[in-house]
Amino acid sequence: MQGAQFYLLSLGCAKNTVDSQSMSALLSRAGYVVCDHPQEADILLVNTCGFIEPAREESYAELRRLAEGKTPDQLLIAAGCLTERYGKQVVGQVPGIDGLLGTRRWMELPKLVQRLRDGNESRPLYHLPGSERKDTETAGMSRIAVQGPSAYLKIADGCRRPCAFCAIPLIKGTAVSRPPEAILEDARLLQDMGVREVNLIAQDTSDYGHDLGIEDGLAILLEDLVKAAPAIDWIRILYTYPGCVTDRLIRIMAEYPQIVPYLDIPLQHGHPNVLRRMRRPANIEWVYRTIEKMRAVIPDLALRTTFIVGYPGETEEEFQALLEFVEGLRFDRVGVFTFSFERGTPSESLGDPIPPEVKEERRGRLMELQQRISLEKNIALIGQRLSVLIEGHGDGISLGRSTRDAPEIDGMVIVEGEIPVGEMALVQIIGAMPYDLTGVQLRTS
Ligand code: SF4
Repeated sequence: MQGAQFYLLSLGCAKNTVDSQSMSALLSRAGYVVCDHPQEADILLVNTCGFIEPAREESYAELRRLAEGKTPDQLLIAAGCLTERYGKQVVGQVPGIDGLLGTRRWMELPKLVQRLRDGNESRPLYHLPGSERKDTETAGMSRIAVQGPSAYLKIADGCRRPCAFCAIPLIKGTAVSRPPEAILEDARLLQDMGVREVNLIAQDTSDYGHDLGIEDGLAILLEDLVKAAPAIDWIRILYTYPGCVTDRLIRIMAEYPQIVPYLDIPLQHGHPNVLRRMRRPANIEWVYRTIEKMRAVIPDLALRTTFIVGYPGETEEEFQALLEFVEGLRFDRVGVFTFSFERGTPSESLGDPIPPEVKEERRGRLMELQQRISLEKNIALIGQRLSVLIEGHGDGISLGRSTRDAPEIDGMVIVEGEIPVGEMALVQIIGAMPYDLTGVQLRTS
């Protein structure tokens, strides 16, 4: 007989996607069956995001939608960052929730579901912080999220950095690294599944191993990963921290072709005074020096970063310095966010003095500058041959990514013809747009 069915809605970032797939695997292991439509489900589960206001609004809207449509026999469970941060307040906002599960207790999901299904206790039931777990492991659980030929692999959870604007340490707690062997095991599993690209994620990947007493942990882990899963074509590092990209890490990136020439390093600003107010590393010289060093030994390096504009007290002069910084360093990919005021963070006392229209105007100017740089860089690629991982096709074209593009956040390569998903196609670039490239597949691949 088929087990009870669950519908899982995952909101937010790739790190949440990994948690969602782990929760889904736990429920499947316990005999529950995943389904695609909420109306078919016995259990409705939302893995929420609570990082900033727009994410909270989306999480509440989805919870309300499911709560309003649910039948008396269905259970609604809210998990993830929103519940970890706001706990019982979430139930106040969305009547009809049967259970709440915090981010640090996701592994207790089957237990929570069983208690709810037993029906002996009054609802809602809470599995929130209180008896916190410090480990990120649960017996034999993978920490992966597979999307076609590409996967995310979580190497740590939580963050010990002091960034004044960020609520993540409040939500997730300090950084806890997974044991290296568990990560290598996941990489071997992904290799056996035929996955071609593995994206390493954590709140701060460059901090990997610090809590385990391992120095240069990310560099060591990468070297071990390359050996443990030699059939994985691309290993990509996301979310590094300024000041923590070591010479050893650069050397390993340059040495192993499997580690893609791509680095995501959120810098958040280019003016030291703003960075100090943000409680972020403010050594701009380090940034110039490190990027120069990396570009010298990794010639095809693609650099991605993100910035926050409109941080409290950001003057026009400081913003101009940011524009010059971006012009000077010519990043390949840039994400720009306007400052989002968050209660409970160290920056709360600074308020939110910059008007929204000024924030938006600065965001627009920075994006416009980056679009020009990005287009120039893409035009320079015309005529070159790039390996492109195909992720979809239809209507006579295929969509894929080169090593220069991370999944979901960067651009893509549009290739003429329908090429099988998962194929690594050798593509000649024939056209360029600010974010995307166009190309034709060469006969050899
Ligand atoms: S490093 Fe990232 S996750 Fe950690 S506190 Fe800073 S912004 Fe937040």
